[in-house]
Amino acid sequence: MRPSLMRSTSQLLRRRSYSSASGQPERKVAILGAAGGIGQPLSLLMKLNPLVSSLSLYDIAGTPGVAADVSHINSPALVKGFMGDEQLGEALEGSDVVIIPAGVPRKPGMTRDDLFNINAGIVKNLSTAIAKYCPNALVNMISNPVNSTVPIAAEVFKKAGTYDEKKLFGVTTLDVVRAKTFYAGKANLPVTDVNVPVVGGHAGITILPLFSQATPATNALSDEDIKALTKRTQDGGTEVVEAKAGKGSATLSMAYAGAVFADACLKGLNGVPDIVECSFVQSTVTELPFFASKAWEEWS
Ligand code: NAD
Repeated sequence: MRPSLMRSTSQLLRRRSYSSASGQPERKVAILGAAGGIGQPLSLLMKLNPLVSSLSLYDIAGTPGVAADVSHINSPALVKGFMGDEQLGEALEGSDVVIIPAGVPRKPGMTRDDLFNINAGIVKNLSTAIAKYCPNALVNMISNPVNSTVPIAAEVFKKAGTYDEKKLFGVTTLDVVRAKTFYAGKANLPVTDVNVPVVGGHAGITILPLFSQATPATNALSDEDIKALTKRTQDGGTEVVEAKAGKGSATLSMAYAGAVFADACLKGLNGVPDIVECSFVQSTVTELPFFASKAWEEWS
């Protein structure tokens, strides 16, 4: 499988200012939907990331409180909160990475597609602002249905003339996180050593964990075990939605997964070699225009 490649941003790097304290390039990360169930723990995790120098927290409501709270943590990233349409431009300006967990989550009995009507409009508006205020940013789309919100953002960026298919990612990292956890548990392997590629899409049966390519390999699992692991990974989101019984979908594990993916983006931007994560991107791997597969940075 030929994975998708992220465009070299070495020119961007050359224009970067460097933090004298850490020797790392200054990096601004914006979180849109920062006051939500995912947004808050994700804000915390990004505040703890030493690669972040500026953290911009945006939501339609509640961000001043979240920003004040997170800003008291004694890590280097400077935190600012922004609220409402009129502050969206300032929140986005100069961002290197924009993470979007804005939108409504599922309730029991809902599919991710049921969120389309509300979240499509939110993503369209936020993408329009990204095209205007930070057209070079890497966009990490968390809002569901990812299978649709990523193509929507792509169309908005195309219309604005800013589309770069190497910079738009649907965040499917939670599928990978789940596959790793479930595989390690069943095969009795140390979970931190485990890797499992997950390809396809980000909804039910479109989520395809490739346990045949999992590392370390194991012969401890039967075909039945693999089937059960596949189903559990595909239904992982629903397992959480049902357990939360009307109080939303995965937030803490999603925040962790979002932080892992954003960290990979920052490392790639900073020129760290061999950064590879699965994500839902424009693709030529199959006949489908978008497909989750391994994506990595390529520096020329
Ligand atoms: P939530 O309702 O707790 O939080 C959503 C936040 O978005 C709220 O604070 C809300 O004010 C904000 N918001 C709404 N419209 C906005 C706008 N126009 N601009 C900025 N912010 C806006 O929901 P949540 O549990 O945090 O989930 C957020 C999204 O993430 C949902 O769509 C959910 O389905 C999705 N999700 C994705 C994955 C994944 O694996 N990609 C996993 C879990 C949840």
